[in-house]
Amino acid sequence: MSETIEEAAERIAAAGASPARPARDPVNRPAIRDWLAAIGDRNPVYERDGVAPPAMVQVWTMRGLRPDQEDELDPLRAMSAVLDDAGYGSVVATDCGQTYHRYLREGETVAVSSRLTAVAGPKRTALGEGWFVTTESTWSVDGEPVAEMRFRVLKYRPSATPATPKSEPIRPVIGPDTAFFWAGVEAGELRIQRCGECGNLRHPPGPACPRCGALKPEYAVASGAGRIHSFVVHHHPPLPGRRSPVVVALVDLDEGVRMVGELRGVRPGEVRIGAEVRADFADGLPVWRPAELVVLPPWELAVTPTVVISTALATRDFQDVHHDRDAAVRRGGKDIFLNILTTTGLVQRYVTDWAGPEATVRGVEIRLGAPCHPYDTLTFSGSARGGEVAVTGRTRTAEHVSGTVRLAP
Ligand code: ZN
Repeated sequence: MSETIEEAAERIAAAGASPARPARDPVNRPAIRDWLAAIGDRNPVYERDGVAPPAMVQVWTMRGLRPDQEDELDPLRAMSAVLDDAGYGSVVATDCGQTYHRYLREGETVAVSSRLTAVAGPKRTALGEGWFVTTESTWSVDGEPVAEMRFRVLKYRPSATPATPKSEPIRPVIGPDTAFFWAGVEAGELRIQRCGECGNLRHPPGPACPRCGALKPEYAVASGAGRIHSFVVHHHPPLPGRRSPVVVALVDLDEGVRMVGELRGVRPGEVRIGAEVRADFADGLPVWRPAELVVLPPWELAVTPTVVISTALATRDFQDVHHDRDAAVRRGGKDIFLNILTTTGLVQRYVTDWAGPEATVRGVEIRLGAPCHPYDTLTFSGSARGGEVAVTGRTRTAEHVSGTVRLAP
């Protein structure tokens, strides 16, 4: 009787970490320059200090277009082969968390060792039925660990009729009583309805003043400052265009009215009643952010076929779905799409563009959502608190990536 997927996973996990496999080439300037050009990263620190961008760590040990030897000892490869045989032939990366102990220097040769840590399935996903495979890798230079990564892929069987998830966020219904409020959101103002007769502030908006009954609505512009009165953490059901969990907070504005909205930039477990928040605007909605949060300027990237292909090659990822449209379509996609090493690199670039060349990146943790195809626009937004920068990258219709970049203090 043949081995089940669970038995194979157990056997591969029990084998532990694979022997350290050295990179084909040492860390070198031509590869760094190609990566910087493809990602569009102009941070001068890499050239000046002779170091590699931290998000390149995985690039050095990518196996290349024609691997010189088969690597049966690689646990992801071994597990993928088992799942291929079981009919789960397609693959997509879903999560990646990298920690950097230091930047790699030109001339150093890194080696990678990986172990299988989890195999979960079969799960029904928007792409089709599949298994989530998690590995942990360590990169080292002469035995000194320099970086670690937790990496998760979905090995799946493309469904014949792929479910197209409704990914557009829900839009507000705008009526005569609320038009001023949404016009304010457009203009980056948080507006509160004010009675034109007695000056009473009220929210939500309505035609009549609850205090004097006058039908003379005007509005005031709120400072945007407030405190959390109460909140809920929404886990289920899934919300269109949103990643669960979502924190929804009821906020006491300094002006004395209460307003509800999504609270972003804080982990659900860290929300505290009474905490100071500040209004911000995202996706055409007012949202709340912790008051001490710094909001990064957004960055728009026009994703051309050249961006997708040049970054795939500069990250030494030769999987056909990143450069061959016919192959991508055959595998159930609508076109070629960005690879996860590139998304990691773009997230790192977005944060270092903002933080400046002297910032040291300690880690990048991302979750991938909808794929990003050519002719789309990827818009990054972020907010920083202490040394943690939360980043979101959205295509025109859906969230492509969300994650956190950790900077050295
Ligand atoms: Zn009134």
